[in-house]
Amino acid sequence: MPQRSVAENLARDLPTTPFVAGRFESGPSSQSFDVIDPVTEKVLTTVVEADGDTVDRAVASARRALDEGEWGRMDGAARGELLHAFAQLIQDRADAFADLESLDVGKPGIEPRVIDLPQTVATLRHYAGWADKLTGQSIPTSGYQGRATLSYTLRQPIGVVAAITPWNSPTMIGAWKIAPALAAGCPVILKPPEDAPLTSLLLAQLAAEAGFPAGAFNVLPGRGPVTGQRLVEHPGIDKISFTGSPETGYRVAIAAAKGFRPTTLELGGKSPQIVFADADPDAAANGVALGIFANQGEVCAAGSRILVARAVYDEFVERLAERAAAVVPGDPFDSDTTMGALINARQLERVLRYIRLGCEEGARLVTGGAQPDRPGYFVQPTLFADASNTMTIAREEIFGPVGTIIAFEDDDEAVALANDSDYALAATLWTADLSRAHTLARRVNAGAVAVNGWSPLDPRLPWGGAKLSGHGRELGQAGIEANTSLKTVTVVL
Ligand code: NDP
Repeated sequence: MPQRSVAENLARDLPTTPFVAGRFESGPSSQSFDVIDPVTEKVLTTVVEADGDTVDRAVASARRALDEGEWGRMDGAARGELLHAFAQLIQDRADAFADLESLDVGKPGIEPRVIDLPQTVATLRHYAGWADKLTGQSIPTSGYQGRATLSYTLRQPIGVVAAITPWNSPTMIGAWKIAPALAAGCPVILKPPEDAPLTSLLLAQLAAEAGFPAGAFNVLPGRGPVTGQRLVEHPGIDKISFTGSPETGYRVAIAAAKGFRPTTLELGGKSPQIVFADADPDAAANGVALGIFANQGEVCAAGSRILVARAVYDEFVERLAERAAAVVPGDPFDSDTTMGALINARQLERVLRYIRLGCEEGARLVTGGAQPDRPGYFVQPTLFADASNTMTIAREEIFGPVGTIIAFEDDDEAVALANDSDYALAATLWTADLSRAHTLARRVNAGAVAVNGWSPLDPRLPWGGAKLSGHGRELGQAGIEANTSLKTVTVVL
């Protein structure tokens, strides 16, 4: 059973300085910042910000590791062994990690234990297996000036990777970026979120224990506009992998464009969950509720647009309202809590503003809509029905436990509504009709479509979107190839 006091002690005892060249720095820095518990609103610990000089040192150390150091000379099998050792150390401390994540993010204790940590370990192990399997191709050609040739391709590390993570699931999303980059042989500089940096510091501690050579893995806590901006603008960075808002993603893309450096951008969504009349009503109601209330709705794949067939609309809204009523907001460390607190006061204000907008624009507030009477950045699980797809609550990412329910008449209208969005990250179809499921999975514009289950996660499955949801793919084979560059070699024989 997770214990608040154990997690609080762990937070207090963590090293809280930038981790550069294989050690936590000891010198003073220009700034430090408090890490706030979203449930008690108290300071958990104070972390030293990586300033410009620290960013420069981290990039220099990563470059040395790649260009001159032991890391750059290591073969794939050796990198795989290190990743397995890292995964094992995390697994051994999975409960501590999970509780620290609950404390830092405000999510219910069970969620990191059954989702974030198992996924983190699985991702590290998946890419540990890839590390010695990055092969090129031998390509027959017509020869060169009458002479035969031998042509082949090499997959080489793309270079130094900057990984920038958000506060909603920093450990797991961190692993999605760190594991494939390290497996491909790229040194990584991780910039964790200012609001939830603690598990990333624990990751640094365990990376040192696992034996990664100096410079292969660095962690730079700090604010986005300071540490993050300096990092993405640094000419020593070869690739940027970013998860966060479209606004910041745009800034990252501009910085990357200056050196034509590749980016992977995962920028969230306004993902539809489409409930057809033939869907199993209980399974659909449970899945849709999970898709909007898990992690307080602070999920890039949150199924926040709930499209329901007119024939079952009233009955489904009622079922979903029952699920919302059963959600228990509270301290993540209380055993009956099923939904935690939002990350900070700004996010709470943002979510409440969207709720006010939903009411003003004429959607029907079915349930929730207020703050529970308690300290912390809590908001009730909230559902709006009878909404239209043009309302702000149907168009913009709220990143909170707010579902917007819209009726549709037939399959064509369901697809049209699903695709009428600035985002294209994920979609869920709830139906018993296999033919409809496969047909519509092709027609819905999303990077990932799930049928009869909200957002299944697996490190083997590529993840990413289009439009305002960003571009590029994490996870799976695509995720590691994104950390490599393809070189063609031709020998004239
Ligand atoms: P941001 O996009 O600002 O933050 C994501 C990461 O980028 C954080 O590590 C942040 O650092 C960093 N960052 C911020 N500014 C810069 C910069 N100029 N250069 C480089 N890195 C930077 O998200 P917010 O935390 O402001 O959240 C706002 C909204 O974004 C949410 O309400 C939600 O809608 C969306 N979001 C989407 C996520 C997703 O999974 N797709 C995840 C998080 C948010 P720091 O934390 O220090 O600011």
